[in-house]
Amino acid sequence: MTITRFAPSPTGYIHVGNLRTALFNYMIARKSGGQFILRLDDTDPVRSKQEYVDGIMDDLTWLGLTWDRIEKQSDRLARYEEAAQNLRDMGRLYECFETPIELDLKRKKQLNMGKPPVYDRSALNLSEAEKAELCKTRESHWRFKLDWKPIEWTDGILGDRSIDGSTVSDPVLIKGDGQFLYTMASVCDDIDFDITHVVRGADHVTNTATQIQIIQALGGTVPSFAHHSLLTGPQGEALSKRLGTLALRDLRTQGIEPMAVLSHMARLGSSEPIELCSSLDELIAGFDLTNFGAAPTKFDVADLGPLTSRYVAGLSVEDMANQLADMGVPSTLQSDFWDVVRENIATRADAAKWWELCSQGVTPLIDDEDKAFVETAKSLLPQQPWTEVSWKAWTGAVKDATGRKGKGLFMPLRKAMTGMEHGPDMSKLMPLLQKVNF
Ligand code: GLU
Repeated sequence: MTITRFAPSPTGYIHVGNLRTALFNYMIARKSGGQFILRLDDTDPVRSKQEYVDGIMDDLTWLGLTWDRIEKQSDRLARYEEAAQNLRDMGRLYECFETPIELDLKRKKQLNMGKPPVYDRSALNLSEAEKAELCKTRESHWRFKLDWKPIEWTDGILGDRSIDGSTVSDPVLIKGDGQFLYTMASVCDDIDFDITHVVRGADHVTNTATQIQIIQALGGTVPSFAHHSLLTGPQGEALSKRLGTLALRDLRTQGIEPMAVLSHMARLGSSEPIELCSSLDELIAGFDLTNFGAAPTKFDVADLGPLTSRYVAGLSVEDMANQLADMGVPSTLQSDFWDVVRENIATRADAAKWWELCSQGVTPLIDDEDKAFVETAKSLLPQQPWTEVSWKAWTGAVKDATGRKGKGLFMPLRKAMTGMEHGPDMSKLMPLLQKVNF
């Protein structure tokens, strides 16, 4: 069975960048009738917060990306310790004592000599006595000893990849304070949860190479890996610093629709055009990981606006019934009202502005040169309640009385009634206007 996971660290909210990871893993699992696990990478007790755990679950729920199971790394520390001991026993996990400053100096030296900044393994030369001495004054951290040989995998997006173990620093699995780092925890989880497919950002490619060796050392089955490109801004600029402002919760507050975000993200960076889908099932049916490319993917948050308004325009009055009722639209008028406004709003919440206009009227917009004309029109306004023929009858009478026609006739009347130059078909809007203020 296909089993995938989305593994955010609860140190922040979901943003458009990690949403792609969530969505791809979700779709792979659902497409094959498999399982999708939400895994909380919360081994950092200082930065992990319950508020973010709640936020991540809220955001996924808002999107409809339901998970079959939730796992927390902080519940599994004993398992990581067991795996670490296993690796120690095999001679694959070794103790190091360098401070961050010393490591930094080493790296700078190597770079100055034109060498890659790969950890030199000097800790492997320490005798037991030297280690015991160092232990008195320093904390130790633990590194996995990579095999210096090519690590190969066929990436679901990047194709055949090979990274030589000797070109990568032995990864630190346990920090000086005893905290298990992501690599250790992730590898144990992927083994224990029988993860079959891992899709994550291209920033994890090197991690994948080291993780493959650790999984093999622990006797696990290596999942299929795929690395999606990272998002950039519309001009190709790095998006990483701006991601904080592209949190899903902010998009949600702005009225962006989940299906707009999902439709955009399910196709962005693929060879297929972006299409607005109406359900996750439709998205899943059209999803194919092999359509995605390695090149950085441009993302413009502005693209979510038109997709949202198109999605909203396609909603039925039944879909909107609760919200329209909350806005105060009486049930007898909901259908006509929604029919009139659906094409004229950017978000669902915008419908409230139109209902205010219908129920309260607006400050009319009357240009100086139209004042007399609007006065005449007002005297010809038919009695309420207005119907679908009222606009035609009224503008016909105004035309006869003033001789105006076309835009010169209609626009000042629209502006007087709605305070705007654009909007719905006036003959449909007029029956909904309960009040005009001119
Ligand atoms: N917590 C890691 C991240 O958010 C998970 C990476 C992975 O999918 O293995 O980058």
